[in-house]
Amino acid sequence: MGSQGANLPPHVLIFPLPIQGHVNSMLRLAELLCLADLDITFIVSEFSHNRLLKHTSVASRFGRYPGFRFQSISDGLPDDHPRAGERVMDIMPAIKNVTGPLFKQMMIEKNCFVSPTRRPITCIIADGVLSFAGDFAEEKGIPLIYFRTVSACSFWACFCMPELIEAGDIPLKGEGMDLFVKSVPGMEGFLRRRDLPGFCRVHDINEPKLQILKSETRQTPRAQAAILNTFEDLEGPILSQIRKYMPRLYTIGPSHSHLTARLEAENIKTSISSGSFWEEDRSCVAWLDSQPPKSVIYVSFGSITVVTKDQLLEFWYGLVNSGQRFLWVMRPDSIMGKDGESQIPVELQEGTKARGYMVGWAPQEEVLNHSAIGGFLTHSGWNSTLESIVTGVPMICWPYFADQMINSRFVSEVWKIGLDMKDTCDRVIIEKMVRDLMDVRKDEFLPRADDMAKLARKAVNEGGSSYCNLDGLVEYIKSMVV
Ligand code: UDP
Repeated sequence: MGSQGANLPPHVLIFPLPIQGHVNSMLRLAELLCLADLDITFIVSEFSHNRLLKHTSVASRFGRYPGFRFQSISDGLPDDHPRAGERVMDIMPAIKNVTGPLFKQMMIEKNCFVSPTRRPITCIIADGVLSFAGDFAEEKGIPLIYFRTVSACSFWACFCMPELIEAGDIPLKGEGMDLFVKSVPGMEGFLRRRDLPGFCRVHDINEPKLQILKSETRQTPRAQAAILNTFEDLEGPILSQIRKYMPRLYTIGPSHSHLTARLEAENIKTSISSGSFWEEDRSCVAWLDSQPPKSVIYVSFGSITVVTKDQLLEFWYGLVNSGQRFLWVMRPDSIMGKDGESQIPVELQEGTKARGYMVGWAPQEEVLNHSAIGGFLTHSGWNSTLESIVTGVPMICWPYFADQMINSRFVSEVWKIGLDMKDTCDRVIIEKMVRDLMDVRKDEFLPRADDMAKLARKAVNEGGSSYCNLDGLVEYIKSMVV
């Protein structure tokens, strides 16, 4: 770039897979890098961008960083395509076939976003499942860092897919689901076939979703470095396995509490915000204010999970029969069913009044932080899991798909901070688990959850592993500027 602009900061292009969980964690990374005075161009799908601007304080939040810019692009799906349930996976081929070529064209037309006030792109931090971003980086000689937004355990199990196929553990055909898996180093003796990431639940190894995940994951080591939203005390043994393939691996999580810690250190006052795609109903916080400490179980299945009406009723009966108080998030698009059926049954709306409260979308981080919350019935999405860990809230896991299957196994068998009810949905089991978590066995779970929360906070405070790794990442990016 010649002498002009030689003093400009490094310019990082960040590109997440445009679904809520991925966008959230990469927005937090973007803000952490803004705090380190790097320039950021953040690529986001038009669909996500509209949602973000409509429902969150994202615009004003990033307005304080002059070096931050959004750049929108199509995610390759029509606007009315359902971006919930298993159909959210349609985004994978759409992104590859439509967004990939558009991205390349945009980068060429915009000359890699160079301007009088911005350097050309110093490095690309792409979601680890966007191999086309890696192809582009290699073609142009731009350094590449992959960010995997899932847990290390899920990433590692996906990385071992060729070995799992070789050993006959995949495809998962519904038989031998409780057999232990031997070909994921570090997980022998506790990982069953049913705990493998949901993508393994296919009848044929040639199924496109399995093949895409296998190839996208296996190509990660071609990046110069990788970032994971986890912390050393949580997944240390698995991280050691991954480092055999990717030695330059930065763990910077839990990213939401890391961001809070850095903002506090800079004396920047801001509300906790997750960059939600839906409008938050804050009335539930007032409701929580009037509940006794640790008396409420928070129920939320994230931004993608959909449930059938039958499952909904099982949850409702289980919760009501447990005698515990509950706060339940029911997204407007979360009930499966034919037209007209996807309404919340009146029975539920009426019945929650006694000890329950229902909202369409909650300010989740704030809710989990609330003193009235004593447990979390979750789908085990990675962000939700980390948010629960940081606040020391034990979990009941009802994983729906993808990485959630393995996250829930780690919650129950490795970290022992909750119960796993995967592959069942029965009111009697739900009632018992809710009672166990909130009452009968709470003295078993709460101290362990509390210990893990302390380790999480230690990781993101000055001198902690994630804190030092983020500083190391920033230095590494700065060293790329020639
Ligand atoms: N979330 C929220 N309000 C809700 C439900 C979820 O803010 O009512 C946020 C939650 O805090 C988390 C994200 O949505 O950051 C869900 O991400 P996760 O990885 O847990 O699951 P996904 O939605 O990707 O399945």
